[in-house]
Amino acid sequence: MQTFRMNASFLPAFMEALKRWGTLVAPVERGAGTYVLQAIDDVSLARPDALRTILPFKKLLLKPRFAMLERRDGGRTEEVFDNDMGPIVYFGAHACDIHALEILDLIYMTDYVDPYYRRNRERLTVVGYGCMPDEYCFCESLGTETVERGFDVFLTPLGDRFLVTVCSARGDDIVRANPELFEPASRADTRDYLKRLQEREQSFSLAMDVTDLPYVLELKREDPVWDEVGKKCLCCGSCSMVCPTCACFNVVDERPELGRAVRARTWDACLYRDYATVAGGHNFRADRADRVRNRYYHKQEAFVREFGKPSCVGCGRCIENCPTGINVVEVFKYVRGEL
Ligand code: SF4
Ligand code: SF4
Repeated sequence: MQTFRMNASFLPAFMEALKRWGTLVAPVERGAGTYVLQAIDDVSLARPDALRTILPFKKLLLKPRFAMLERRDGGRTEEVFDNDMGPIVYFGAHACDIHALEILDLIYMTDYVDPYYRRNRERLTVVGYGCMPDEYCFCESLGTETVERGFDVFLTPLGDRFLVTVCSARGDDIVRANPELFEPASRADTRDYLKRLQEREQSFSLAMDVTDLPYVLELKREDPVWDEVGKKCLCCGSCSMVCPTCACFNVVDERPELGRAVRARTWDACLYRDYATVAGGHNFRADRADRVRNRYYHKQEAFVREFGKPSCVGCGRCIENCPTGINVVEVFKYVRGEL
């Protein structure tokens, strides 16, 4: 890992330079206070200071809907590369996003490698950007508030300059190809970086106690709290769609027009009523309470048992976007009997 300093006024030139490594995708303001991840040519549109985009970066790896196979009448079934997005530079990844990317890698590239995911993942360049938490962030509770790997370059704003951390061979290439933008980091840069970290640590207002959580959940499997949350949850799936680590998908065969058939893959959510319906019509999680519990247990119990850490990074998107105000931190406080 190497560190440099970059003058803040060089940011547009840096973003221009990044285009050599792929399509530049950055947070862009869609409406007042609403941000989306979007491919940009005009770098002045980028808003890396935006805390959350509505949909997270997972859409850069797997589109919400894409065709996998196609067949025309009388022809052969052909593989289609609808999901291949080419090299992408994801600019503005926060520490929790980079942790979420690592979780998606575990899901999609551990036992069974997902070729659709892998093709985009291998061509993804990740440029991180330091953030300050708002009232929905609780990454600090999950240990995802800082990041030491999983990115190519990371920019931490320090007023009139950035501390630039380089963490990969590709990041090294980016810095070497643009020597006019960087200079070695000084002791003052390191001092200000540590000061910023301290300020950031003190800015968290939301926290979740994760001590022994998988064990607590094991004990609370039949707790009435799940019925209570189930009554409040609409099972609309918004929390899953906006979650950077939710990875459920469905595969459907469609006939978009006469003489043409397509096998498509779409984002799905375990909260949807029919998600656990199997051939013959039996639904393993017909009750809303069961579906809600399943989502929480998958993130904080099953994933921990399988991979040694939860599959929630504390980004706060599900809290901000739930139409009925379900708050994951409060749910776990209820589970622990603290509310
Ligand atoms: S966003 Fe809220 S209401 Fe919708 S499925 Fe998630 S928890 Fe339930
Ligand atoms: S469960 Fe909620 S807070 Fe956790 S990663 Fe998903 S959207 Fe973010």
